[in-house]
Parts: sequence; structure tokens; C-alpha cells
Amino acid sequence: MLLRGKKVVIFGVANDKSIAWAIARLFHEQGAELAITYTGEALEKRVRPLAESLDASAILSCNVTSDEEIDSVFSELARIWDGVDIIIHAVAFANKEELKGTILSTTRQGFATAMDISVYSFLAIMKAARPMMLGRGGSALTLSYYGAMKVFPSYNVMGLAKAALEASVRYLAEALGPDGIRINAISAGPIRTLAAAGVNGFHTILNHVESKAPLRRSITQEDVAGSALYLSSDLASGVSGEIHYVDGGYNIIGL
Ligand code: NAD
Repeated sequence: MLLRGKKVVIFGVANDKSIAWAIARLFHEQGAELAITYTGEALEKRVRPLAESLDASAILSCNVTSDEEIDSVFSELARIWDGVDIIIHAVAFANKEELKGTILSTTRQGFATAMDISVYSFLAIMKAARPMMLGRGGSALTLSYYGAMKVFPSYNVMGLAKAALEASVRYLAEALGPDGIRINAISAGPIRTLAAAGVNGFHTILNHVESKAPLRRSITQEDVAGSALYLSSDLASGVSGEIHYVDGGYNIIGL
């Protein structure tokens, strides 16, 4: 039981294919107490039963574009928990029209939306979470993609957002390190989820990675969850500011 009694807040469960859901299940198995957030009534119908099946201590609405909703997550949690140990940030969004064609498809508004939901939300959540995380040796984890570093067809503005997210991991690690809070990211290989379905030609990327990655397979939500467990637990007590690839080794290949 690597997470016995740890209080974990998970942002980013949409359905049973979500990477955040695999993380929630494994953390529950490892003894964590969970708070799970959802966005909007449509997703609440899917998320609530999933969260209840893990005896979640709290199931809270949170659209990360709203500081009030983020603050209310932590004020609700302050009523039931004495603190928070672990944050999982598995949230990203870009308009569908901008996830096809080239980067020149990006609009000013679309850029702002992708950055707000996919990058600023991590800063906003950590600002709100910090008072409850002090003095507990906790950690936060976000999810990135190799499109932050290299060009992938149609990934476009989301590649820019992931590059900014990875920089945010380093700046947050420096800012929160003196409080004993560790910040890391997993750069996951392509996985079929709701978010991935928005990327035009996603299956082409998936097939390419499957044929070229050293492990010759795509990765699963469970692969990501296993690495998330290590990075979030005390096993990784000396690790912060890291972008950890869980991609079957794809990123090391030249040709
Ligand atoms: P998903 O669709 O299951 O999860 C995305 C989540 O973002 C959803 O739960 C959605 O509700 C949430 N979200 C979107 N807008 C929001 C808002 N305004 N407020 C609050 N939440 C909002 O898909 P996923 O693939 O599990 O994505 C999780 C993370 O993993 C994302 O950051 C994604 O970019 C990243 N990632 C995914 C892949 C992949 O191939 N699936 C690869 C690398 C990284």
C-alpha cells in the first residue's frame, strides 16, 4: 500500500477510458482517499458512478476556467480533510477546428482557450491547493505529450500548450520545492480517449508509434497509472521538475 491514507484530488476523469480514471483506480487500490472532479452535467452522469465505485470522499464540479470553482473544490475539501497530499492534473482542451490542418489554423481566441484550460489551470490549481499541501511532503502530476517537443500532424496549438505546460512543471517545481511539494509530468504515448478523438488523424499517429516504438506497441492507461503511482508516492521523494516519458520508448528513436 504505497498511498495508505493519502488524500488525492483528481482533475480529468471524463469516462472509463480517461487516463485519470486508471490513475484513480490504482491509487484507490493503493489505499488513497480520493476527491474526483467533473465538468458539467453531461459528464457528471458518467463520472459520479465511477467515483462512487471507488468510495470517493468527494465528487465535485469544477470547470478549470473558473477560479471560483477551483477555490470551491479546496474549500469543500477543507471541511472534510485535514490536508491534501497529491494532485493529479489530467485536463486539456482545444477547439476541434484547430486540431486539423496546420498551426496556421490557430485563432487568437482558440490559442487563449487552449492555454487557459490546458496550462493556466495547472498553475491555478496549485495556487489554490498550496495552503492544504503545506508540511505534508506532497506532490502534483500533470499529463503531457511529445507534441510539446516535436511536430505531429494536427496537434498544432495543443503542442504549444504542452510545451508551456512542461515549462510550468519546472517553474512550479522551483516555486513549491521549498514547501516540500514535488511537481512532475508524464509525457504519455498516444492512447484512445475522448481527448485523443479530437485530434484529426490520431489513428495515423497511433499506428506509427506502434510500429516504431522500441516496445512495438501502444501504451495503455494502466501503463501511465503505474508510473503515476511511482511519481506521486514517496518512492519518488527525490524527484521534482521531471518530464517522464511513458511511451514505449518512442521518443528515443531517430529513424
Ligand atoms: P479525457 O478526454 O478522458 O480527459 C481530458 C479531461 O479534460 C476530461 O476529463 C475533461 O472533462 C477535462 N476538461 C476539459 N476541459 C475542461 C475544463 N474546462 N475544466 C475541467 N476539466 C476539463 O482524455 P485523456 O487522454 O485521458 O486526457 C488526459 C490528459 O492526458 C490530457 O492532458 C491529455 O492532453 C493528456 N494526454 C493524452 C494522451 C492521449 O493520447 N490520450 C497522450 C498524452 C497526454
